Amino acid sequence: MYRIVKKRVLNPTVTLMEIEAPAVARKAEPGQFIILRVDENGERVPLTIAAYDREKGTVTIIFQIVGATTEKLNHKEEGEYLQDFVGPLGRATETEGLKRVAVIGGGVVGLELAYYFAMAGVKVTVIEMLPKLAGNTDPEICKVLMDDYKKRNMTFKLDCKVLEVTGDSVIYQEKGERQEFKCGAVLVSTGRRPNTAGLGLEKLGVETDGPAVVTDRHLCTNVAGVYAIGDCNGKSLLAHTAYREAEVAVNHMLGVRDEMRYDVIPAVIYTDPEVACVGESVESAQAKGLTVKEGKLPMLFAGRYVAENRGGRGFIKLVVDTDRNCLVGCHMVGSYASEIVMTAVMMIDTGLPPERLKKLVFPHPTVAEVIREAIFQI
Ligand SMILES: Cc1cc2nc3c(=O)[nH]c(=O)nc-3n(C[C@H](O)[C@H](O)[C@H](O)COP(=O)(O)OP(=O)(O)OC[C@H]3O[C@@H](n4cnc5c(N)ncnc54)[C@H](O)[C@@H]3O)c2cc1C
Repeated sequence: MYRIVKKRVLNPTVTLMEIEAPAVARKAEPGQFIILRVDENGERVPLTIAAYDREKGTVTIIFQIVGATTEKLNHKEEGEYLQDFVGPLGRATETEGLKRVAVIGGGVVGLELAYYFAMAGVKVTVIEMLPKLAGNTDPEICKVLMDDYKKRNMTFKLDCKVLEVTGDSVIYQEKGERQEFKCGAVLVSTGRRPNTAGLGLEKLGVETDGPAVVTDRHLCTNVAGVYAIGDCNGKSLLAHTAYREAEVAVNHMLGVRDEMRYDVIPAVIYTDPEVACVGESVESAQAKGLTVKEGKLPMLFAGRYVAENRGGRGFIKLVVDTDRNCLVGCHMVGSYASEIVMTAVMMIDTGLPPERLKKLVFPHPTVAEVIREAIFQI
């Protein structure tokens, strides 16, 4: 735990804290991003360095309340047990204790950070209570991801529920047995939720669903003139959703016709391989009673992908609603996925029939051509 030398509350959400951390101060740079456990509740939070004093061995960090907060681990003395996650992210391998890291939670953020540490030479073990990684991501994509990650210093303990974190190990349950995993540091990534406590919403009478502010398709709450955009409404918890929600809300204020669509928001896992998805999977579509058909192709169908990748098991899956005769989902794993997913977003958004989409001309050679080829598989 770091000793707080000085604390200056700038406003209800932003506090400057000078903390004693000589190792960090030695290499600190303003604007640098670090993760430390500093607050009274023992929470480990991402922080930005505002200033440093190398002689005094202190750094001044910006401590900020954010729109979403991290889910707490479900056991009583969480803060007490957690190891400090010491050191600037950029110098992970130089920092003592980071030779072996346990990442609790194999969701998108957990995987991205686990991948980062693995690339920095740290042995990473992801402990996930579900039988698969990456939440709702297509199970076949998850299989490709896991196989690739395993080749890169990453190991996985699936179906394992963390019970507690002690001084130097994570205690988890596997097949009913209590197990111990020894490590130098723990990164908790067990999900995020809206951070609305203490805003006084109840005084205004703003309707909430748990911590999430309830909004309609114009981002209006139940109280006239009060809008809620971004993580606080709990709908998507992505930066690009928040941008669009802001536009919709402002348009509503100005009387411009506009509304939010949540069914065509792309999501990406920024690792190598990269994953990009938008819309329905076969499973989610069927759960909604849609009749769907799937088209699947290896990314290797795109000449450009072949030229720029050494093999790779990347693939694309398109999901078509056969009753409405339009594309409703696209799921990809492989290089460029995040760059080309917008093509699928536009196809879904416009609702054009596959026969019309087949007539679109793609530049050749591009990796995006694989989307066009996949339409021909349906
Ligand atoms: C590790 C990580 C990786 C992520 N990666 C991605 C990604 O790759 N792509 C992506 O799209 N999204 C990503 N996200 C999610 C993304 O950061 C959020 O969805 C986005 O920041 C939400 O924007 P927001 O404005 O709702 O909330 P925030 O960005 O959290 O902003 C909320 C702001 O409100 C201020 N505030 C809070 N309470 C008050 C108050 N009472 N008065 C005044 N101000 C207040 C806070 O100080 C803060 O500045 C990631 C999140 C995490 C944690």
